[in-house]
Amino acid sequence: MIKPFSDNIIFVDTEFSSLDPYKGEILSIGLVKLNGEELYLELEYAGEISDWVKENIVPTLRGAKVSRGEAIQKIKSFIGDKEPFMVSYINQFDAIYWYKLFGLENNPCYWIPIDFASILFALGIAPESYYFGDKNNFYEKIGIDHSKYKQHNALDDAKLLREVYLKFLQLNPQDLEKIQK
Ligand SMILES: [Mg+2]
Repeated sequence: MIKPFSDNIIFVDTEFSSLDPYKGEILSIGLVKLNGEELYLELEYAGEISDWVKENIVPTLRGAKVSRGEAIQKIKSFIGDKEPFMVSYINQFDAIYWYKLFGLENNPCYWIPIDFASILFALGIAPESYYFGDKNNFYEKIGIDHSKYKQHNALDDAKLLREVYLKFLQLNPQDLEKIQK
């Protein structure tokens, strides 16, 4: 049902230290290519962390951390030089903190990030439908069992986004109508 401009894309999700863009930095990042290849990293970080993040994200981090420099190298070699469009769900924080990590010069993705929430909006679907607790049963309607994904794990979030995106490529107008209601 969606006809994307390009299939040169990569699904990205990050967990970060704060919703304040002046303070926030990436703590963990999940990247999944269209072909399913994936990369997950947790980054060293010694700065301030918001209370919500302390409670909900920090306990879910697995342990082994890489420096920010190592993260840049690993992500760049994973992505390669095709400059894919970075697709995230509610991407403003991911994108800002991505730019804080890479700077303008080192960004391995195309410079315009793509927001899946905006894609939903353009299809007449409430952008928050994507949340697991959606009262209109978004996931049931699109036929995805989200229980296999751990919410707020950056890799799981990126894998889920890939699955939803692939599903949207297949939706017919009748399916779409059901989701819009
Ligand atoms: Mg996430």
